[in-house]
Amino acid sequence: MVIRTGDQYVSSISKRSKVEIYVLGKEVKDVTKHPFLKPSVMSFKATFDAAWDEDTKELGRAWSPYLEEEINRFNHIHRSPEDLAAKVKLLRKLSHKTGACFQRCVGWDSLNTLNIVTKIMANKGRTEPRDRFVEYLKYVQKNDLALAGAMTDVKGIRTLKPSQQPNKNAYLRVTEVTKDGIYVSGAKANITGVAATEEMVVLPTRAMGPEDKDYAVAFAIPTDTEGIKIVVGRQINDARRMEEGEIDGLPYFYNHEGLVIFDNVFVPMNRVFLAGEWEYTGTLVEIFAAYHRQGYGGCKAGLGDVIIGASADLARQIGVEKAPHVQDKLTEMIFLTETMYSAGIAASLNAVKICDNCWWVNPMHANVTKHLVARFPAQISQLAIDIAGGMVGTAPSEWDLKNPKLKEYIMRYLQGVEDFTAEDRLRMVRLIENVSMGVAFQIESIHGAGSPAAQRIMFSRLYDLDLAREISKKLAGRKADLKMTTKPEPWRETQSEQEAKEHDK
Ligand SMILES: Cc1cc2nc3c(=O)[nH]c(=O)nc-3n(C[C@H](O)[C@H](O)[C@H](O)COP(=O)(O)OP(=O)(O)OC[C@H]3O[C@@H](n4cnc5c(N)ncnc54)[C@H](O)[C@@H]3O)c2cc1C
Repeated sequence: MVIRTGDQYVSSISKRSKVEIYVLGKEVKDVTKHPFLKPSVMSFKATFDAAWDEDTKELGRAWSPYLEEEINRFNHIHRSPEDLAAKVKLLRKLSHKTGACFQRCVGWDSLNTLNIVTKIMANKGRTEPRDRFVEYLKYVQKNDLALAGAMTDVKGIRTLKPSQQPNKNAYLRVTEVTKDGIYVSGAKANITGVAATEEMVVLPTRAMGPEDKDYAVAFAIPTDTEGIKIVVGRQINDARRMEEGEIDGLPYFYNHEGLVIFDNVFVPMNRVFLAGEWEYTGTLVEIFAAYHRQGYGGCKAGLGDVIIGASADLARQIGVEKAPHVQDKLTEMIFLTETMYSAGIAASLNAVKICDNCWWVNPMHANVTKHLVARFPAQISQLAIDIAGGMVGTAPSEWDLKNPKLKEYIMRYLQGVEDFTAEDRLRMVRLIENVSMGVAFQIESIHGAGSPAAQRIMFSRLYDLDLAREISKKLAGRKADLKMTTKPEPWRETQSEQEAKEHDK
């Protein structure tokens, strides 16, 4: 059995000897015990438990043709549109268990991306990266490893390509190639869950040209490697976790991101998938971005459910549950949540078969999904705050509630409807605060998988405006150059589909 339990995962990451991990300036040796990182470990753990829990087991497992065995779905290569839909469904369900990002999707999307890109490379005659990738994939699946996906470079001046940057450290780069491997230096930013992972899959962050070839690098490396330093980022409300309470800081589940510094790190050649092949970077980024944008339709909808439930409960606690405007706000929140989910499911079931036994998400629907996600969580949070009342920003702390001198007063004055206690109210207020105003729901929703402008660029690339213009000219009775096809949508093929087809010829 290659499927690990959550406890097996936790014990495997408790001992680190080479990587340096820092939280608030201090080095952390055991991420599983540190109050700042433990909630993140618990959230990651939920992805392992999902393969065992009765309610998620079916979604949490998949059949691997590489091992001819069942594996944890988080390391699976999607083999059908239904597989892709199962991803979105699993993510929604896991949000219900964690109320936070569970951090394992970026690594999963990175595997699926490399599967396609190395196949395209092999079709062009570059077979070694494909062989290395398949061996790596089997290793990951067999050991049921927790992966981070490290794509985002620190990027310096955004409008300049890596080779044009005045600061040569703006993008991760290859500094030396030997017969045994490569040395890399640079930093990747905003990497989700990284301190709680066992392996990192590192990918280039943008399309590059021949002059950028030193930066066109993709590889996999154990997180516990000499020369890697992880600086865990601050978050809203983060210091509350250090208080080790059980109401205020959502101490049970959370996520973290880190700045990952590679200080002349050696990567053995059998772990290198791209080193200089700049011509594949555009396709790689397009494939990864669409996979990751699709997934947000699941996890953010799941967080939406948590916030809707908490808002409805708080409305009941303060006696406004039946007020028409509250009902209407809850209905709006449901609409926003289900719209994100519907788009994610559409991106899955309208998937594109891009190579033998491998399916890519529908790129238009995937970009639409992420664009909705960039907008709707803020609206959902606004409605939740409206329903919850000002208390969501002003409530006394857990420590006031636990102070014997204050407890009685707080219980007396903060109670609403008598079926509920003031503690019931405080717990819900804190849940809304932590989930709706946390990094995962607010900031990741906007920037994760690329800022909103990146999706708008994809819309204009994919949508065939000329075709739409000819359609309307014909209907208006004007001379039109229109060739009707069987396809209902006026969409063009992506670069990735063209690449895959070109190589299939
Ligand atoms: C919570 C969270 C988790 C994340 N997890 C991961 C992860 O696990 N792995 C990973 O690899 N990445 C991760 N990311 C990174 C994410 O993919 C990036 O944040 C995203 O791609 C945007 O990059 P940026 O943050 O550098 O912002 P920028 O790209 O700098 O965006 C800032 C602004 O600049 C604009 N801009 C950028 N470039 C240009 C240009 N060339 N021309 C004009 N305007 C431009 C943007 O549109 C935006 O308005 C995560 C991000 C967040 C917030």
